[in-house]
Formats: sequence, C-alpha cells, structure tokens
Amino acid sequence: MIPFVDLKAQYLSIKEEINTAVLKVLESTQFILGSEVTAFEQEFAQYCNADYSIALNTGTSALHLALLAANIGPGDEVITTPFTFVATVAAIVYTGATPVFVDIDPVSYTIDVTKIEQAITEKTKAILPVHLYGQPADMNPIMEIARRHGLTVIEDAAQAHRAEYKGQRVGSIGDIGCFSFYPGKNLGAYGEGGSVVTNNPEYAKTMRMLRDWGQESKYHHVLKGYNYRMDGVQGAILRVKLRYLDKWTEARRSLAAHYDELLANSSITTPTVMPYSYHVYHVYAVRTSQREKLQQQLNAQGVQTGIHYPIPVHLQAAYADLGYKPGDFPHSELAAREELSLPMYAELTTDQVHIIAETLQSILQGVSV
Ligand SMILES: *Cc1c(COP(=O)(O)O)cnc(C)c1O
Repeated sequence: MIPFVDLKAQYLSIKEEINTAVLKVLESTQFILGSEVTAFEQEFAQYCNADYSIALNTGTSALHLALLAANIGPGDEVITTPFTFVATVAAIVYTGATPVFVDIDPVSYTIDVTKIEQAITEKTKAILPVHLYGQPADMNPIMEIARRHGLTVIEDAAQAHRAEYKGQRVGSIGDIGCFSFYPGKNLGAYGEGGSVVTNNPEYAKTMRMLRDWGQESKYHHVLKGYNYRMDGVQGAILRVKLRYLDKWTEARRSLAAHYDELLANSSITTPTVMPYSYHVYHVYAVRTSQREKLQQQLNAQGVQTGIHYPIPVHLQAAYADLGYKPGDFPHSELAAREELSLPMYAELTTDQVHIIAETLQSILQGVSV
C-alpha cells in the first residue's frame, strides 16, 4: 500500500535529532513557551522574511488572533473563499464577524481577484486569501484592492510554508500571515502548532498578549486574552524540522514534476503553476470527472488518495445560517466534485510516483493491471 502521507518515514529520517531535542525540553521543564519556542519564533520569522513571529497552539488560533489584532468583530465582514478548510471560516465567525465568500479561480484554486471588488461593502474590514494546496493567491491585485479600500490583508498560509509570490515568501506579503504546524502540514509539529508572522510591531504586540491571557506583565491583563501558547516540546521539534524544510520542499516539487510528466497525456488535469508562484505542493491536486471510480480503484490497487475538500464551506450544514445555496459559487462546487489528491510527501520515492501514475493511467484506459 502506498499511503497518502507517511509521517513515520520522516520521523525515522531525523529520529536522533528529534529525540535529543525533546529530551532537552523535558530536562529543562520549559513545557510551555520557553527558550526553544522563543528561538523557533526568531528562526521562523527570518525564514518567512518577517520581523515578528508569535508561536501558537494551532493554525486556527493564528487566524483568530490575526483577525482580532486587525480589530475585526461583530458587524464587520471578511472576504474569503468557500473552497478551503473549514478553519478559515470558523476563525472569522469566532470574532463575531461575517464571512463573505468570493468564488475561486478554477485554474489556480485561489480567490478570483476579479470578483473581490463587487463583494466589498461599507462593512468590509479585511480580505483573507488562502494559499490553497501550497500555491500562493494572486497577492498583487489583492494588496492593491485592499489598500484602495483601506482593508487589512490576512494570509491563510497554513498549507504554504516556504511558498513564494513573485519571489516573496508568503506570510509576509499581507499585513499578517497565518501558519499551521499540524503534523501533516509541510512543516509539521508532533502535536498541534501554529504561528502568526507580521512586520507590524503593533499587531505583533497585541497578538503576543492575546495568546497568553492578554497579559502585559504577569497577572496584569490589559486585553481579554486566550490560552493559545505553544508547547516547549513543539518549539524544539519545529526548530529541528525547519532546517530540513528547503530540502523537503525541493523533494515535493521534484515529485510533482514527475507526476506532471507522467500524467501529461491522460484525461485527468494536473495542477497549473501560476506564472507568479513558487508552488510547494502541500497537496498534489488532480481533476477528474470520474473521481469516485478512480479513488475506489486506486485504493483497491494499493494507492491511497484524499479529497480536499468534498464540500465547500458555503454548503456545510454548520454554516447554513450564512444563507448561501448551491450554485452560488460554481467553480468551488465543481472543484469540490472533481478534485483528487495523490500521495505527496518528501519521503515518497520517484519509483512510487511511477507506480501511482501507471496505475492511474491503466484505470483511465479501463484496463486492469
Ligand atoms: C490546517 C489548516 C488550518 C488550520 O490549522 P490547524 O493548525 O489545524 O488549526 C487553517 N487553514 C487551512 C487552509 C488549513 O489547511
């Protein structure tokens, strides 16, 4: 069986370094925040080309704090796409603000920048583009529209560590960037984790306070805060793993190039890399009108796949109160029906990619291997 992701293979490749780093934290008893987390914050900020990074417990908390720092709350509207992981939308709702959806561009899967302006009202406070699958949204027009209308831009970079838009690392292009270190992400902790990055010292100060009960100093609570702190163990693990991220990203890109080549003459559509983007392939997403059949037969022949995501957020039961209906965002709805994610992780081998591509081709031709 070729698994969809293989976290064990990566752990085995760096086991000694990880174990040493974890034991060091246990000995130090700096279980929450502490020197490893502080060091990780500095290294991650530098990696993202940002002035500040604040380490958190999850990527969802990163989105929540970014929105709060931008002073978003009840009565405000935040523009994003419905074709994303539910957390993007949940974080907007946590603040009391209303998510306003704009459809995706069907080629890049990121927000259709030509449709943003018609969604802006006097209540709009921010645009929240999602760098879906590891491909940056089209940031220049987004920033231009935002500046013209006085809006904050918060990047959901949870799937896009190390991705670049016109040579610039994502996360530090908008006002605040949000990352997740969920284990399966391109940079994953061994538990939950997240971070915000920003160049704005005021936002940084606010988010740093909010993650730790709104304290300015111990027991002096100047803001109504949260417990969104990162564990010391996760900081230590992420420091080790950050050193491998360039190498792992290159491996993903090389595997993607193999898939592209081997699947070029098939009836499925391979991902399009936009001219502005350095794609980091959190997900290698193909499109097919025969997804159910393909997924089932691939599984039967030992290839695990995923779907990201089968239901766009505007059609999720939990968000029915937003008042959207089928047909409102046709590109998102079609992508949700046709997208299929093939195995993708740095430790996948080119031989495995060949096997996956051949299996896929033989199924498409209606021949069994
Ligand atoms: C993973 C993810 C999140 C949430 O991150 P968590 O660390 O799981 O809270 C948010 N947005 C997107 C696009 C994601 O993929």
